[in-house]
Amino acid sequence: MKSKKILVWFRNDLRLHDNEMLVEAIAKSDSILPVYFFDPRYAEEALDGGTKTGIIRSNFLIQSVAALREALLKIGGNLLVISGKPEDHIPALVEKYEIAEVYHHREVATEETTISSNVEDLLWKLRVNLKHFIGHTLYNKEDLPFPIKDIPDVFAQFKKKTERDAMVKDCFPAPTEVILVEAEEWGEMPLAVTDDTKPAGGEEEGIKHLKELFKEGAEIYLKVSAKAHADKAAFSSMLSPWLAVGCLSPRKVYWAVKNAERKFGNHTNFSHLILGLLWRDYFRFMFKKHTVSFFSEVVTETNDQLTEQEYNKLLNQWKEGRTGHVTVDQYMTELNHTGFMSHAGRLLVATFLIYVIKLNWLDGAAYFEQKLIDYSPASNWGNWANIAIGAKDPRSKNTFDLDKQIKMLDLEIFVPS
Ligand code: FAD
Repeated sequence: MKSKKILVWFRNDLRLHDNEMLVEAIAKSDSILPVYFFDPRYAEEALDGGTKTGIIRSNFLIQSVAALREALLKIGGNLLVISGKPEDHIPALVEKYEIAEVYHHREVATEETTISSNVEDLLWKLRVNLKHFIGHTLYNKEDLPFPIKDIPDVFAQFKKKTERDAMVKDCFPAPTEVILVEAEEWGEMPLAVTDDTKPAGGEEEGIKHLKELFKEGAEIYLKVSAKAHADKAAFSSMLSPWLAVGCLSPRKVYWAVKNAERKFGNHTNFSHLILGLLWRDYFRFMFKKHTVSFFSEVVTETNDQLTEQEYNKLLNQWKEGRTGHVTVDQYMTELNHTGFMSHAGRLLVATFLIYVIKLNWLDGAAYFEQKLIDYSPASNWGNWANIAIGAKDPRSKNTFDLDKQIKMLDLEIFVPS
């Protein structure tokens, strides 16, 4: 009898723990072919001449994929690594290895969904199914108390109804054994530009960071002053890079918080962390509901007195941290050096770009896409859009306070150069 082989296409789900796609592929097949694609489209030149994925995030990603391969090797598996487009390779792999089905986690942003639609069309011609899994969110869409089309656009309502009526599932256990499709070659990993990216990518590193976060005496248990909390500058878990590429599942983080809650009782920082995960879900579901129009229709007033040259000069000063505004410049310099910026910093520099120097917010968001180590399409474009509509749209009340951000900017002397 012919054995059943499943191709497991890893994307932003670079982990063994809480990976339903992997668990089901192992259970429903005789052997699996795990594959990861370094897609050249993400290394392409951006409109401003930079690369769409900057060095810091590239390194983090390479480390994360290498760690996944190591983890699979330890349980008898491996990871086929291909530098190329999934559409160009998956159909050929299916034919070569007589694959019966292809599994992947569904994405929400246009670039990613276009890629999987193309793959699906090509597989359809081969009469092979592309099975979609949902593993990026805390709440699965089918567990929500409303269909996607009825998800409230107001975050507070989304939060209230979801927390009241939906459950967070347990994590799927990490598989302990894999039977592989026999392949002659498993592909070369691209070289990281530098080995010392901090934080380091990979599931093991992410789990280590999560454990450190909750170890006895850690910062998360410190009492937070009401003012610091109100400023939203209270606590930063720094979990976002691992969450963005799926080295950590949001459910793993959620259950770590619940575990700490059981031991130590409620804490502002615990609620803060869960709130962050809900925001993350919210933006993904907004993308799913509205697709790209969620942000493409958001237009802000830009300074139309500027010539193209003047516009580019202002934009470059913002990017390089040379605006003359001390805090904005510090935050942008931090972004350029580390790939990270706190949430408070992101709010401030975005407010500055949109409402003070009045540039097009899409340019700011595109720069974040290049530079952020934790770049994630829905979270980045969603947050930028939220700030851009903030001044006009009552839906954003209580979530983005433009007056407060402007006051914070006003506290610093701004000397335009
Ligand atoms: P914590 O405060 O410890 O929160 C825990 C987790 O919750 C985060 O790791 C993150 O996964 C999630 N989270 C928290 N707040 C938000 C939020 N507002 N939106 C979405 N998720 C949230 N986050 C990204 O992960 N990728 C991005 O590309 C991104 N771009 C942003 C752009 C702008 C303009 C703004 C204002 C925010 C952006 N954020 C983005 C959200 C947020 O700033 C970061 O998730 C957070 O700063 C990461 O630090 P942390 O892990 O310490 O967060």
